[in-house]
Amino acid sequence: MPQTKVDVREVKLYINGQYVDATSNRLFDVHDPSTGELIARVHEASEADVHDAVMAARRAFEESEWRTMPVKQRCALVRRMGDIMIERKEELARLEALDVGKPYRDALEHEIPRAANNMKFFADFIEQHGSEAFPVDDQFLNYTLYEPVGVAGLITPWNLPFMLTTWKLGPCLATGNTAVIKPAELTPLTVSLLGEIAKEAGIPDGVVNVVQGFGPRSAGEFMTTHPEIDLITFTGETATGKAIMKAGSDTLKRVSFEMGGKAANIVFADADLDQAVSTSIRAAFMNAGQVCLAGSRLLVQRDIYNTFVDKLVEAASRLKIGDPQDPTTNLGPLIGEEHYRKVTGYLEVAAQDGAVLAYGGRRPELPEHLQNGYYLEPTIYTHVSNQMRVCREEIFGPVVVVVPFDTEEEAIQIANDTEYGLNGMLWTSDVKRAHRVAAKIRAGTIWVNCWFVRDLRAPFGGFKKSGIGREGGKFSLEFFTEAKNVCVSLVE
Ligand code: NDP
Repeated sequence: MPQTKVDVREVKLYINGQYVDATSNRLFDVHDPSTGELIARVHEASEADVHDAVMAARRAFEESEWRTMPVKQRCALVRRMGDIMIERKEELARLEALDVGKPYRDALEHEIPRAANNMKFFADFIEQHGSEAFPVDDQFLNYTLYEPVGVAGLITPWNLPFMLTTWKLGPCLATGNTAVIKPAELTPLTVSLLGEIAKEAGIPDGVVNVVQGFGPRSAGEFMTTHPEIDLITFTGETATGKAIMKAGSDTLKRVSFEMGGKAANIVFADADLDQAVSTSIRAAFMNAGQVCLAGSRLLVQRDIYNTFVDKLVEAASRLKIGDPQDPTTNLGPLIGEEHYRKVTGYLEVAAQDGAVLAYGGRRPELPEHLQNGYYLEPTIYTHVSNQMRVCREEIFGPVVVVVPFDTEEEAIQIANDTEYGLNGMLWTSDVKRAHRVAAKIRAGTIWVNCWFVRDLRAPFGGFKKSGIGREGGKFSLEFFTEAKNVCVSLVE
């Protein structure tokens, strides 16, 4: 088992190729969510520090060789960052588990490899991407050039810090932009190392900058109002997306937003129940339910409702809750005290609204060293109506609600009766029904008889209040580039 204790780290800002102290002279503390222990003291960027980071990125965009470098050469450096992530994957996974409280094994086997793949995929994709030509008879030839936009602000949440940052950084760099990154203040550790990794890969100084701090009236807001940031790609809560859009409007920033979700996970009576149960358990409780794509709203056809719930409860009872660094742990703690209060507040709301607690809902019994961790048992509510608050609001914890339905039309109606539209899942053995229902659910990704399967070429993003724009493959290329039309006369 990896070590559980680390020295308290000092996390600095990474600006223009150097780790530097913040000029604010302020440090904030970061704690291990599984124990409450102090693990890092982080320099909080002042407005002047954010300005320095942005101007370093601006100079690197305008003056360094980065933007004009042959695409093959630039993509080789981006790919090298991915290789270094794999070389350092144990260290990155250990830090991610420590900072987020997620199981080390999940970080090691899934998130860090996926982060590396984010860099490698976009390096390959951009390197191989061609462009369109539009000939006009024999008289004119139009063709498209995709040019980098400029300085990108990358603002990311605490639930999958490293993976989600690289999801943005890969296409940002491969297309020739420069970056200022701000991770969530709760989880700065792995993202801070992107400076070191960029340096080791040979990325020119100033191309990658990492500032640390909070959102409002802090590093996040300083970025969204800075005139030299051209585009913002943000992942986080819907309410934050609204604030960022307002703040960025004066300087007309291009935005891409990946925000909250409340996905319906629909199980029809003709589904393979065992498969549906085991994947629904992952969809509800992976990362302690702190996943935007979580299947937190289960809709189950009434004929199989009781059987399904019995199997679900049985599977939930087999999850091992414990130390994130233990490779046998399935479920770690919630991210911190404030979030713990928010999530457990929903348990009271559920009880008041008349939902039936079928499993969990308590703090689990844990060994001595985890007594101060923010742990909650996997929790299942049944006999829930879609009008209850636990069905309408994103809880972002290990809480799943099970809503009964009778017909396909009713399932679609309930699935769409939400302000979110990030994703949806459905389980059926009827292929015609699968396509029919997939077409009718208003969400950016629909998984049929599966969950969390990602092809990085495919569009990713949300309908309704779950997002603006799409990322992935050519969708990221469009966001991170200016498409220029060149029209050449062929007339003699
Ligand atoms: P938040 O919106 O609270 O924070 C996200 C980032 O935005 C953080 O870095 C935060 O800084 C920063 N921020 C907060 N306020 C501002 C502001 N006014 N201006 C600029 N930046 C700001 O989200 P969480 O970190 O709580 O993450 C959970 C949310 O993320 C959930 O809603 C989840 O659904 C969503 N999410 C969506 C995904 C998707 O792909 N659609 C994927 C993963 C998560 P700080 O934390 O320091 O305050």
